[in-house]
Parts: sequence; structure tokens; C-alpha cells
Amino acid sequence: MFDVLIVGAGMVGASLACALGDKNCATNRDLKVGIIESNGNFLRGEFTNDGRASAIAYGSSQIWQNIGVWGGMQRRGVTPMRVIQVSEGDLPYQVQLRCEDMGQEALGYIVENSVTLASLWEFARECQNLELICPAKILDVEYVRDRDVMRVKISSEIGEQYLETKLLVGADGGRSQVRQLAKIQISERQYEQTCIITTIKSEKSHQNFAYERFQASGPFAILPLGSDRACIVWTATKEETPALLALDENSFLQELTKRFGSPLLEKLGHISVESRVRANYVPRCMHSQTYVQSRLALIGDAAHTTHPIAGQGMNLGIRDVNALANVLKAAHQNNEDIGAIAVLKRYESRRKWDNLGVILLTDVSNRLFSNHNWLFKVIRRLGLLILQISLFKRVLMYFMMGLHQSPRSRES
Ligand SMILES: Cc1cc2nc3c(=O)[nH]c(=O)nc-3n(C[C@H](O)[C@H](O)[C@H](O)COP(=O)(O)OP(=O)(O)OC[C@H]3O[C@@H](n4cnc5c(N)ncnc54)[C@H](O)[C@@H]3O)c2cc1C
Repeated sequence: MFDVLIVGAGMVGASLACALGDKNCATNRDLKVGIIESNGNFLRGEFTNDGRASAIAYGSSQIWQNIGVWGGMQRRGVTPMRVIQVSEGDLPYQVQLRCEDMGQEALGYIVENSVTLASLWEFARECQNLELICPAKILDVEYVRDRDVMRVKISSEIGEQYLETKLLVGADGGRSQVRQLAKIQISERQYEQTCIITTIKSEKSHQNFAYERFQASGPFAILPLGSDRACIVWTATKEETPALLALDENSFLQELTKRFGSPLLEKLGHISVESRVRANYVPRCMHSQTYVQSRLALIGDAAHTTHPIAGQGMNLGIRDVNALANVLKAAHQNNEDIGAIAVLKRYESRRKWDNLGVILLTDVSNRLFSNHNWLFKVIRRLGLLILQISLFKRVLMYFMMGLHQSPRSRES
């Protein structure tokens, strides 16, 4: 019987496993944790280097530091973001968010997803109380009333089997099977946009600047990697996407560089596209009506998803991990039942408003910045002007950096 069984060892589920692991935390030693992952490549240490990278808020790096996994990511390579420059269309003025204004060495970091996963899995393997069940996928989930446990039917290389747990955690992504089997309702909205992901190399260094350029078809983000590479998250309208994806390499580069604008191109010099594959995702926002049931909790994309423009989806998931791990560890030390609804509700109440707030704000920003109406244009230009005022800028940076829920601001 497991104390905690996590379904999904992506970046969020694996972070929870590490937070409950006993490598750096002896009090976790008597917690028996299982983690089920369907992608067998992870077990072989193969984390596709598809160029996808995520903006990690400073607060999330602190959470990973507390768990003990941040060192592994730094060793493999993380790129500090010292300045985020926000601009609209071809307006001559832009807002610069600078790390020195917050007295930190970085606003956050850009980390390739393959680096994050490799570091988390390396740490998880070194925890004696974690059992990695991979490749395996869940087939069914059932609450067994007379024994008050969750029973999970899985299929793995050794065939079908049943596992029992005091708490089942769904960390199996936006289309979560755990959530569906538990019949938890969601509210969702699909955007009429596509995010095209690619990586570029520039002649001159980006100097650790990240750029968020709001344009008519949608936001265009340039996330610094290393000293002269960058991950591009290009939001295009649904109509223009097929043609963009079908372009030959030269024409694609031409279209891409148009989105940079001349001042930035001058700064970066010659640009070449590094990745051969143009990954593309249709963004959606989704929120589960509840994150918990008796003996069940949802975290990360299984509980909520948001438009990638603000680079917050995984940061929300990492904050879920921090809250759930703290609640479970405290309950365990107080001899409470870690799967009891009263315990799990503490996790939900810590996370719901932060998640909902970010989803709504991101949705409003996307609508505001992707709208051609003159009134919206005036509002967003006013918004950028207001952000020149130091107080507003600092409030925005405080939340964007995840400092309101970093381990230092909120010890359990
Ligand atoms: C284009 C794009 C750019 C983004 N950029 C950023 C960014 O800059 N910053 C940021 O914070 N966020 C960003 N995000 C969001 C971020 O990628 C997600 O929020 C994050 O990956 C969610 O992680 P997760 O572990 O919850 O889910 P997932 O990454 O979906 O992982 C789920 C895991 O569960 C496994 N699984 C699924 N079903 C089963 C099953 N039945 N049985 C066993 N295992 C199963 C899968 O194999 C997978 O490993 C971006 C998203 C997109 C699309």
C-alpha cells in the first residue's frame, strides 16, 4: 500500500515526487511514494531535446532549491533573465523590468524542459522511498469504501495489476485521465491561436534580455538561452498558421525576423533558425471545479492550464507542488490521515485563488493585446505608460517573480 501514488512524472509530478523523497529530508523516509509514468523514454534517461524551454519565475527556482533539485538544473545549464522588455506593435517606448529593481540577481530563468526533467528524474532515482513505475499507464481508478483506500488499475510491461494508496495525485497533464475518471468537471476555453515554438541563434549576445512583443496576431516572446541562443514562442492566428508551418526555411526565417522589429535585429545581428522542427500547440485555458476529493488531489496542468504568453503554467504547477508537499508533510508529522478531505482542502484553499487569478489575468491580457479595436489600442498603450511608474512596475514584478508564494514568504 502506498501513502502517495502520483500519476504522471512530467515536470510537475516529478517535482512532487522529489519534494516527498527522502534524499534530502529524513522525515520523508517512512512515506512510501509511487510514481506512474507512461513515457518509457524517461526511464532510459531520454528527454527529447525539442528546443522547448520554460520561463521559471525566481520564486519557483527557490522552491526547487528548497527541494534540492535546483543544483542539478544549474549544473546542466539555466539562463538568468536579467531584463524583460515589453513592447506593443512598433511603439517607440517599451517597459523594461529589471532584476536590480527587485534587488535580485535574476527575474527568473529560462530552462530547457529536457534539463528540468533530467535533473528531477536523477534526483528521484536517488530517493529510497520512491518507486518509479515506468512505462505504465492507468486504466481505472476506484475508491474502495469499505477499506477507505484508492485502488488504481495499471497496465505495465508485467501486465495488468492493482495498486492501493491512501492518496492518489493526478499530475497527468491537461487531458488528465485521473481527473476524467474521478468525474471532476472543468471550465475551459480554446483560443483561436497557435503557438509556434522554435529556437534561434544570433550573431551577437542577447545579454540576458527576454522580450515580450505584443503584435496584431498575438504575442511574440524571445526567451534567452545560453549566450547567443533563444527560444521563440510565436503566437499566430489560426488562419495564418498552416501557411507559416508550410514555409521553406528561408521564407520562415524572413517571416520570423519581421516579428523582431529593426531595433532588436540591429542589436542581435544575423539570426539563424536552429531547430528543424516547428513545434506547434493550440493554447487553451482550463480550470477544474475542484482540485480535491477524498483520497485524490490534482496538481499542475491536470488541475489548470493557461495561455503560454505569460509563461506561468508550470510556475503555477510548481507552487501547487510546494503547497501540497507542505500540507502532506505537516499532516504526516501530526499523525493525520494524508488522504482525508479536510487535509486536502488545506492544499486547495492555498492554491485556488493564485491559479484562478493568473489564468484570468493572462486571458484578459491576451484578449486586450490581440485586439485591433482602437479603444483596446488606447487602453493597452495607457497600460504600458502606467507601468513606467515605479510602484506599479514593482507590484507587477513581485507577482510575476512568484515572490508572493515563494518558500521564504510562506513557510508552512
Ligand atoms: C508552447 C508552450 C510554452 C510554455 N511556456 C511556459 C513557460 O515559459 N513557463 C511556464 O511556467 N509554463 C509554460 N508552459 C506551460 C507548461 O509547459 C505546463 O504548465 C507544464 O508542462 C505542465 O506540466 P505537468 O507536469 O503538469 O504536465 P505535463 O507536462 O503534460 O506532464 C504530464 C505527464 O503525465 C504523463 N501521463 C499522462 N497521462 C498518463 C497516464 N494515463 N498514465 C501515466 N502517465 C501519464 C505524461 O507522459 C507526462 O509525462 C508552456 C506551455 C506551452 C504549450
